[in-house]
Amino acid sequence: MIEILQADITTLPVDAIVNAANHSLLGGGGVDGAIHRAAGPELKQYNQTHGGCPTGEARLSPGFKLPAKYVISTVGPVWYGGERGEAALLDSAYRNSFILALQHDIKSIAFPAISTGVYAYPKEMAARTALAVMKEYESKFERIIAACHTREDVDIYESVLAKLS
Ligand code: ADP
Repeated sequence: MIEILQADITTLPVDAIVNAANHSLLGGGGVDGAIHRAAGPELKQYNQTHGGCPTGEARLSPGFKLPAKYVISTVGPVWYGGERGEAALLDSAYRNSFILALQHDIKSIAFPAISTGVYAYPKEMAARTALAVMKEYESKFERIIAACHTREDVDIYESVLAKLS
C-alpha cells in the first residue's frame, strides 16, 4: 500500500524517513533543515562520518530525536531542463533509498517529494518517477508513505497514482 499523506515528515513514527539532502549531508533548507532541527545536532555530527554523498546515492543514519528510527539521506538532482540525466538520477535517489532500507530490515518508510523544492524539478514529473519506483518496492514493505507538504502536492500524487494503477 502506498499512502499519500499531507504531513510534516519529521513527525512520522516510521522505521525510516528519507531526507532530500545536499551533497554535504550536513543540513540545508527545506525538508533537510526541518529534519536536522528535529533530529538534533547529532545528525550532522554523525553524517560527517559519511564524507558527503553523490547525487542519486543514499546514506543511513540513526534518527536521534526523531520518532523515526533511521534517516536515509539521499541527494536528488537539480533540475536543469531535463537533458542532464535528471530523470535517471531521481529514479536512483528513490531506488537506492529503498535498497538501503531493505539492507536494514526497514519495513515502513516515508519520502518527501525529492528535488521538487529548491532543486526545481517539475512536480508532476517528479511524482511520476517517485510513484513508479514506490510501486516496484510496494510488496517488500509494510508501509510506504509519500509525505506531501501541501494539499496541492497531495492532489498531484493522487492523480499520478491513479494513472499508474
Ligand atoms: P530539494 O532541494 O530536494 O528540492 P526541498 O526541501 O527544497 O528539497 O523540497 C523538497 C520537498 O519537500 C518540497 O516539495 C517541499 O515542499 C517539501 N517539504 C519541505 N518541508 C517539508 C516537511 N517538513 N515535510 C515534508 N515535506 C517537506
